Amino acid sequence: SASLYVVATPIGNLQDLSPRAATVLSEVAMVAAEDTRHTARLLRHLGVRVPMLSLHEHNESARVDRIDAYLAAGESIALVSDAGTPLISDPGFVLVRELRARGRRIVPVPGACALVTALSAAGLPTDRFTFHGFLPAKGGARRAQLEELSGRAETLVFYESPHRIRDTLTDIGEALGGRHLVVGRELTKTFETFLEGSALELAARMEEDPNQARGEFVVMVAGAPPREKGVGVEVEGEALLAALLAE
Ligand code: SAM
Repeated sequence: SASLYVVATPIGNLQDLSPRAATVLSEVAMVAAEDTRHTARLLRHLGVRVPMLSLHEHNESARVDRIDAYLAAGESIALVSDAGTPLISDPGFVLVRELRARGRRIVPVPGACALVTALSAAGLPTDRFTFHGFLPAKGGARRAQLEELSGRAETLVFYESPHRIRDTLTDIGEALGGRHLVVGRELTKTFETFLEGSALELAARMEEDPNQARGEFVVMVAGAPPREKGVGVEVEGEALLAALLAE
């Protein structure tokens, strides 16, 4: 039956597009794309000719009926974003939610995603992690969010742009202390780099070598160290239990 295919595209290296993604893009009736000019380059590279429809954060709700009409007519559609997996810090959530509510078939076509790519090579714990997308642009809100996350034990993952990477590292240093960070930059591209150290060390390194502050970033922060045992609540709890047993 007609489906909405949610298709992951490369985050840099074009060879990361899966053969299945290429097949789907060549077989659908229409590709809904975050930026049609950007996606036109990918489709040209694949030798695929297919009509496109723009779908971005400002028109997403307005596009739902139009895309649903295709599906109702038995025509499948692919959703792509500029890079990586749609809906992950990218448009598509409203569309998928609405079409799912209408009983339409939604088929994921997996592929590159910057946060998973970064985690897979960082050497930080991955049994538990939380993804927080982009931190707020304004300093006050950014620091407040970091404070809120400061007690979390799991690995924290953020996306960041070259405009704010240094400010963000400085704020992470202040809010989260000297914890270990791994920053993945330009993943799958020519200048792919992993930097490791404390947030303030990494900010200083980018200050020295501005090339290190260029491109796209995934910032990964070790979780809060475990709280020391044998002090505070637990001992109080034991003392209380002993007292109750004595009664
Ligand atoms: N949907 C995408 C995904 O699946 O990862 C993310 C889109 S979001 C608008 C763009 C952000 O993802 C960038 O600012 C950066 O933080 C991260 N990103 C995307 N490509 C990257 C790459 N090649 N290297 C490092 N980070 C990347």
